[in-house]
Formats: sequence, C-alpha cells, structure tokens
Amino acid sequence: MKKAVALSIVLGMVLCGCSASQNNHDTSSKTEVSVQSEVSEVSKEESKLPEPESRDIFAMDTYMVLKAYGSNAKKALEESEKEIQRLENLFSVNIADSDIARINANSGNPVTVNVSTKTAIAKAIEIGDMTDGALDITVYPLVREWGFTTGDYKIPDEWLIDWHLGNVGYQKIVINGNIVTVPTEFEIDLGSVAKGYASDAVAQILVENGITSGLINLGGNVYALGRKPDGSKWKVGIENPTDTSKMIGYLEVQNKAVITSGNYERFFEEDGKKYWHIIDPKTGSPADNGIISATIVGDNGLDCDALSTALFVMGTDKAIEFCKAHKEIDAVLVTKDMKIYATDGLEKNLTMTDGLKCEFIKR
Ligand code: ADP
Ligand code: MG
Repeated sequence: MKKAVALSIVLGMVLCGCSASQNNHDTSSKTEVSVQSEVSEVSKEESKLPEPESRDIFAMDTYMVLKAYGSNAKKALEESEKEIQRLENLFSVNIADSDIARINANSGNPVTVNVSTKTAIAKAIEIGDMTDGALDITVYPLVREWGFTTGDYKIPDEWLIDWHLGNVGYQKIVINGNIVTVPTEFEIDLGSVAKGYASDAVAQILVENGITSGLINLGGNVYALGRKPDGSKWKVGIENPTDTSKMIGYLEVQNKAVITSGNYERFFEEDGKKYWHIIDPKTGSPADNGIISATIVGDNGLDCDALSTALFVMGTDKAIEFCKAHKEIDAVLVTKDMKIYATDGLEKNLTMTDGLKCEFIKR
C-alpha cells in the first residue's frame, strides 16, 4: 500500500476508493489503514489549504471518510454520520428490523417502508429495466449462497443455483405508495445502490449547511462537492483492479459522483479461479463478461451506483453499446485483458497513470 500513498502524494488530493473487503486476501484492518494513511499523507501535502473537518466512519460494511470545509463543517458531518446510520438501519439485510430484512422475512406480504427505502428500491427497478435486468436486487439469495454476505465462501451446487434462480426477477416487486411486496420466497438487498444513495444524502446535508467544498468517500463511492478550497478540482483516483495498490488514472471533477464496481472489492479464490460478489442474474454466478471494473461518473450517486453494478454485469460489448446510447452518463471500463475504455465526456477530466492508455468511446 506504500505505493498508493506515494502516488497520492505526487498527485495531490487523490482518493482511491477502498471497501472493507471480506475477501480472503484483504483484511478489514488492512483496508482501514490504507484509506486513512492515504488521506493523512495527502493532507500533509496540502498544508496550504485550511484544515478540513473530517470523519472516519465504519458503516454499510465499509470504511468511509467524510471531509468538509467551512464554518458549519463539524455540524454538517455530525448530521451526515447520523444519516448514514439511519440509512444502514433501513437498508441492511443483517439488521433484523430494517426495512429490507422485514420485506425479506415477510415475502408474499405487503410491508410498509420508509420513503428512503422505497426510493432506493424504485431506482433499482428503473435501472433494472434500463439495463435489461443486469441490475436485479432479487439476486440476493444467490449472493448469500455464494457466501458473500457471511464470508463463508463456497461454490454452490448447480441445482441450488438453478433453484434460487427460480426466485429471481425484480419485475415481480410491487410498490404501492410506501408499501412494498415481493413474491413468496423472494428476497432483496440494496448492496448495489445503498452507498450511492447515502452519498447523495450526505451531499445534500453538506449543501444545506452551506458547505461548498467537501469530499465524501464511502468505500469507493466518492462524491466530490464543489472544488477544493484553493479553487482546483478534486482528483479522484481509479484503482487498478489487478493491483489495488496502484491506480490506472485519476479524474478531475466537481459536483460529481464517481462510483466503481470492481471484481477486487469482495472475492475468494478456489483452485486458482477468482469468484466475486457481483452476480449475473442470468446465470446465478459471478458476472464474468469481460469487465473487471466499471466506474460511473455523474451528477447523482444513486444512479451511478446502480449503473456501475449493471455495466459490470453487462460485460464489455453491451456496456460500450449502453454508453453509446446514453450520452448522459460517463464511464471508465476496465476489461479482463486490461483494455481501458472511457466515454468521450471524460476526455478533458481523465489522466491515465502508469503509462496506461485508454480508448475513448465516441458519441
Ligand atoms: P460495492 O458494494 O462493492 O461497492 P456494488 O455497488 O457493485 O459494489 O454492489 C455489489 C453488491 O450488490 C453485492 O455485494 C450484492 O449485495 C449486490 N449485487 C450483486 N450482484 C447484483 C446484481 N446483479 N444486481 C443487483 N445487486 C447485486
Ligand atoms: Mg453499485
């Protein structure tokens, strides 16, 4: 991880997202150190800037770092932390009285949920429709069967995968006002959108508190609010999926969410093969369609989070086609053979590092 720190110093305020992986290679404590040391090393470099108010939080199974500048920053970050906890208590599959756990425990029956939960589910359905079912929050029983929720990793028997696939299909979720019903035996989880939703909520709290400069890093889900206090744009690093101590490049952004889904965030290996936490709803197995990391850049964290998971699942060809058809989104895609594609909207914002090259998707 020393290299990542060094890179960060060279580049100034560069953040690489790291989640608290439960994989068998990257322990939570190691991940915590990596995030924190990057941030502290970088802030030494930035000694000319005013000191930001900063918070390190562990929530949603991820280390989060919130930074904000301005007189209300402390209050804003306190409110932000409470909001993240509130959302975790609504969205977590592992908290018995969360909205999602109640929906799952009462499949077949209507469950009244908080408006935040309803909004996140409705968005997941919308993006499911937009991506031909690549995003499907009913894939949860398979995520659990592979052990990604518990850390008890295993390759499920084929019959078990097929059996669970019979209970996958987000189109069958019914939302009526704030009442959500999933079919009997169905279960959902919002792992693909929760941090994006939370980043929007935190950004809103910062703005409401008059903050014009801040950086929200929810374990690889970054929202860059305004510009740095010195007037320059925020630099957000994109991790190299084959060596997360390195970056493939960085983006210079303001008022943008930068959200990555990667095959290195949570995985296990068996007989030399790697299995990761993003499941292809068509096969019930880890999505292995050519993409190893998908980063989405946009105004809204919730959309970006949903799309990053979906484009990862779609794979190289379909994801490139999707980017061509959706000029409103920008993306950086890394393929298994380390080809890097970026949409043309990023031509001015993306700097590649380590001598890597990217091909721009023209639209
Ligand atoms: P991360 O949470 O690591 O940032 P993602 O945003 O891509 O990554 O979300 C991955 C999570 O979403 C998984 O841990 C799982 O809970 C859930 N998930 C996995 N595959 C799918 C899928 N095809 N559609 C919707 N949710 C998924
Ligand atoms: Mg996502």
